[in-house]
Amino acid sequence: MAEAGSPPELQPGTTGPGRLRHRRRLAVVALTALAVLGNVWLLPLFFGIHLLLGSTAAVLALLLWRGWTGLAIGAAASLYTWQLWGHPWAIVIFSGELLWLSLAINRWNGPRSNDSNGQIILWDIAYWALIGVPLVLLFYGGILHIDQANMQVVAVKQVLNGLINTSLAFIAFLVLRLTLSQRSEQLVTLRGVIVALVLLAITLPTLGLTMIASKQLQIATQNGVLDVLGTAASAVAHTPLSDLGPGQNGPLQLGDVAFRRRDASGQVLSSDPALFARIDRDYRDGGRSYMHPPQLGILIPRDARPLLRKWVNGYWTYSGDFDAAGRPAPPGQASIEVQVLEPTKANVTRVQNQSTLMLSLFTAVLVIGALVSEAVGRLVVSEFRKILEPLQATGPGPAESDWTSHLIPTLSLSAVGELRALVDQINARIARVNLLTGELRQANQALAASRDELATLSLTDSLTNCLNRRALDAQLEDALRRARRSGAPLSLLCFDIDNFKAINDSHGHPIGDLVLRSVADSVRTRLRATDAFFRIGGEEFVILLPDCSEMDALLLAEQHRQLVSQAETPAPEGPLRVTISVGVSDFRPDSDSCESLLERVDRALYLAKRSGRDRVVHQ
Ligand code: GH3
Ligand code: MG
Ligand code: MG
Repeated sequence: MAEAGSPPELQPGTTGPGRLRHRRRLAVVALTALAVLGNVWLLPLFFGIHLLLGSTAAVLALLLWRGWTGLAIGAAASLYTWQLWGHPWAIVIFSGELLWLSLAINRWNGPRSNDSNGQIILWDIAYWALIGVPLVLLFYGGILHIDQANMQVVAVKQVLNGLINTSLAFIAFLVLRLTLSQRSEQLVTLRGVIVALVLLAITLPTLGLTMIASKQLQIATQNGVLDVLGTAASAVAHTPLSDLGPGQNGPLQLGDVAFRRRDASGQVLSSDPALFARIDRDYRDGGRSYMHPPQLGILIPRDARPLLRKWVNGYWTYSGDFDAAGRPAPPGQASIEVQVLEPTKANVTRVQNQSTLMLSLFTAVLVIGALVSEAVGRLVVSEFRKILEPLQATGPGPAESDWTSHLIPTLSLSAVGELRALVDQINARIARVNLLTGELRQANQALAASRDELATLSLTDSLTNCLNRRALDAQLEDALRRARRSGAPLSLLCFDIDNFKAINDSHGHPIGDLVLRSVADSVRTRLRATDAFFRIGGEEFVILLPDCSEMDALLLAEQHRQLVSQAETPAPEGPLRVTISVGVSDFRPDSDSCESLLERVDRALYLAKRSGRDRVVHQ
């Protein structure tokens, strides 16, 4: 599609790719530096436990560029840890993690736009569960034979380190995409943003709490050590030399604590000269950054694998200046210097066990957080899809953008703008639904009205406005049931216009119609509200009279007969008069059905006709 005629802005400028390469090179250098520095400057988490954030930059590079760059950066970062730990195994474990993540991104993760969906964190959890932890057990337990407390803390620490690195890298990746990316295809998925936010919300407070708890643990441990060593040093200082000196049983013993005392005269007395000689030769200061007061310190072996064994194989040391009476004295006025030592093994092991517990807790929270954030992300996105799918089907909308065409809700550079556009779309949709609902309601009302009209029409005779035969069938049944139940009387009246055929024949059909209508009108004037009036045939009518005895019905029939015979229908040849013959019958609840009642009243009408017309007959 990119032909010679394409618009100039679509053709990359000659400086474009060059500048992009330059920027990328700068970014690679920056990330490599960050990776190395992240492992040289350790982030102290708590007592003797650090985080190595070097792999963060490597994972970020994997997310940004895929390919080998991330692996190379990761290897560069790991090399320093060789020196730090005194063995190469951690490099294997972390390089394995990067290789696994690289495979996850390149092969298993689907389309490129999915890099921002947060699944890399789940892949990382999978790596540590399936490969990382077994490797730690193999290298540290099987090859290096470190003790169990140390082993546990190293294993948990590495898992936590890996997960934190990957999570931080993912969050940094999202932030970079949202703020720096200018390419429209480089979007950030909504799911990824939710994963990052939920993860931050869960892990940051946990990290804070863990650090506070470990600080307390560290202070408590130090105070315990300080109590023992301070008291021992003071005891050594104020005990007369003669009592301390090598007696019959050798120098004074203070349990595990060894001492060395130097008097103003230069005389040195030690409970274990060989130990102090070894300490002076093979041990170094383990750093006083954790210690207070400054008299307290920790001595660690100078030999290899310092990170693994130095704390357990170290010695607590307390050095104090005292006056002749054994009271603490400022350095200038001191006459006695005392140094006491105690092996760290017991309480460092205890601290390591506690640290393992806290790190495991933190790791568990991170893993649960990752799973929860994944679930929340999926849930929210599936809700969004419900809105986006019909929008995409019916458009209008930003159909050209990725988040509708791939149905992966994403946020681009203008995340806020896009969200607002989405909200507008939703609002428009809601307005449309409201409009449709209103129209539907109106249509329903109209439909109900016409249905009622239709029902009325289907039961009415249009010429005379009387009810029709079908209405009689429906109402008579009902009226009989009611009469039977209440015991009230009910009568039926049936009349037929006499010699009507002759009127049609001599005046024409239209005049016949007029007559029919005028007869119906004059009958209607005498009806009660509860009476029902039906035209059941050409010129044959029925009146249903509830609550009306036969006597009353006969009277009424007579009145109708007279009324009709007196009424005149205007016609061209002069006003017309007709008569009617009427049959009357009352309902007999014990024996009557609709059919029998109609039959009887019909017979009455027939008799009225037979006996000369224009009369009322009851049966
Ligand atoms: P009888 O006294 O025995 O009832 O005699 P008749 O002529 O009234 O009876 P017949 O049943 O022979 O004739 C009824 C006539 O009514 C036949 C038919 O043309 C006419 N008719 C039926 N329906 C209509 C109508 O809707 N309009 C008009 N103008 N005439 C109708
Ligand atoms: Mg007739
Ligand atoms: Mg008739």
